[in-house]
Amino acid sequence: MMSFQHRRVLYQGSFFILFLFAPVLDLLRFDLTQGYLILFGAPWTLGLDDYLAGRIDHQQMALNILLRVIAPIVLLAIVFLGIAWRWGRLYCGWLCPHFSVVETINQLVHKASGKQSLWDKKPGPPYYPDGRPALSDRRYWLLAMPLALVFAFLWAVALLTYLLPPADVYRNLFHGTLTHHQALFIGVATTVLFLEFTFARHLFCRYACAAGMFQSLAWMSNRQALVVSYQRARARDCAACPSFCDHVCPMRLKPRTIKRLMFACTQCGQCIDACETVQRDNSQGSLLQWIEGQQALQADGSQGLLTGPAAMDKLNKSAPSHWEAVAKVSTVK
Ligand code: SF4
Ligand code: SF4
Repeated sequence: MMSFQHRRVLYQGSFFILFLFAPVLDLLRFDLTQGYLILFGAPWTLGLDDYLAGRIDHQQMALNILLRVIAPIVLLAIVFLGIAWRWGRLYCGWLCPHFSVVETINQLVHKASGKQSLWDKKPGPPYYPDGRPALSDRRYWLLAMPLALVFAFLWAVALLTYLLPPADVYRNLFHGTLTHHQALFIGVATTVLFLEFTFARHLFCRYACAAGMFQSLAWMSNRQALVVSYQRARARDCAACPSFCDHVCPMRLKPRTIKRLMFACTQCGQCIDACETVQRDNSQGSLLQWIEGQQALQADGSQGLLTGPAAMDKLNKSAPSHWEAVAKVSTVK
């Protein structure tokens, strides 16, 4: 059976291809030359031309705006945020074409430097959770940087095809006859995205992405939502582990902390997989696991008694039995 992470990569890869080809297949794009949206091959218009020509009245125009703009946006927002409210940033961890670039470049940067990001203070352990050596090799920079540039270029071209007829864009691109504005758009977008993929990546996801931020806010508002939880009562089982869960996190979070500090968690499950591998000979299994519903509520309630760094300290020092009694699962080594 396909592993959790392989399934996730399959979803991410498929969605990335969909992201590139949705305009080409006329599934979704806004045609600036025509001035309307194209959705599943058909124009999605407001009927503005009919209104200006007097073929439809004010009421029909208002109804068009309600049914073709406001209602679909509200419906999409409800579905998108409803999923986030229940399961967290699933879109980020399982579909987002930006996050799949983040993870791919992270892995290559890790192979080149032992760190997932240039901003990590120290390299991770020189071996993987299963014990295989993870020696870094600087030659991977020769793969990571060109790949970041390729991704940036693909993204830039794809973005342009969401705005201009894809056939024109690709024809001009292949024949070297891009217009001044097309070349400018692709050049600037490629440069900006290359810098972002090289220096920011997960920082953009954490601090600058509106879609991610709204998902996180929806998720935080539900104390019963799916969340990665740490069995603090078993913290001594972590003694021999060089914090693999921290090192594998593509968002550079520390999965053994409280939910509030996991605001940007993408539910990728890599920390859980790492811990399952580390603890594969432990009959009690992983110290990290998904919880939701009542269990999440209890864990959140126990964490909610304390706030701030001093509280984290207190939490660290509190007796495991107390937290066990309150929630069975708790936080922070
Ligand atoms: S929770 Fe698991 S992966 Fe994280 S430090 Fe403990 S044993 Fe290691
Ligand atoms: S905390 Fe775990 S599930 Fe969340 S983003 Fe990091 S590795 Fe993925």
